[in-house]
Amino acid sequence: MKLLIHGGFFSEFSQSTETKLAKQAAMERIAKSSFDFLKTHSALETVVFAVEQLENDPLFNAGIGSQIQSDGVIRMSASLMDGNTKKFSGVINVQQVKNPIRIAEHLMGVDDRVLGGEGANGYAVKNGFEAFSTEIPDRRAEFEAKRASHGTGTVGCVALDQDGKLAAATSTGGKGFEIPGRISDSATVAGNYANADCAVSCTGVGEDIVSGAVASKIVTRVSDGFSIEKAFNKTFDELKEFDGFAGAIGLDKGGGIYWQESHPKIVFAAYDGDNFTVFQ
Ligand code: ASP
Repeated sequence: MKLLIHGGFFSEFSQSTETKLAKQAAMERIAKSSFDFLKTHSALETVVFAVEQLENDPLFNAGIGSQIQSDGVIRMSASLMDGNTKKFSGVINVQQVKNPIRIAEHLMGVDDRVLGGEGANGYAVKNGFEAFSTEIPDRRAEFEAKRASHGTGTVGCVALDQDGKLAAATSTGGKGFEIPGRISDSATVAGNYANADCAVSCTGVGEDIVSGAVASKIVTRVSDGFSIEKAFNKTFDELKEFDGFAGAIGLDKGGGIYWQESHPKIVFAAYDGDNFTVFQ
């Protein structure tokens, strides 16, 4: 059993040492509680559990503390992929819910598994997800000061359970200051992908991640015989062709972990029950 979580990029300009330390402490707390959960739950259940906790922590740009779009509204995206059944589900640009990943989880049980905008909002209301504002004063202040900032967040988790099954989940408040209607990578197979061989969750500039088909390429390359390290390196080399801004964490079926970032610094943590490592 093993899991990795990520908390997106540290913004190059806006994060104090205090915030960095707080993020590291949150990563440790969430990685450890999620690993405890993994002992008695599947990889699929665990990635949802981990991402929900990351969404609930205002330090990260997902759920509570999400970025505000250019029209002053928060729209969030999240997705879930079960490496065992090969099913992907997600919500794109959902509003006024606390935990977008829980709606993605709910959608696993229906035929239409990726919903966007009004459809996603309506589905949440109809299925009992309570109305909730994820706005926090810091994000509003940034918005008012028109400080569009890339890379303050997005969260993700990849997990390998005791049955050898893999899953990935990713959730984001977006880039900040987007044109309403912009689609994030986080609820696409470029940002979140898993199969029986490998699971990957990405953060960074969604347009670059989609252009590079990052998560789906890494996972496919592992299935085609690449080591996880080679699959990451080749995929990130291809991003260099257009200076793509991305970071990713990955886990293979043998418990091998790997990560890459095209620019500094993605924050992530790995835990296997014995060794906890936080990387930044
Ligand atoms: N990937 C997210 C997006 O483009 C943002 C991020 O990871 O910080 O919506």
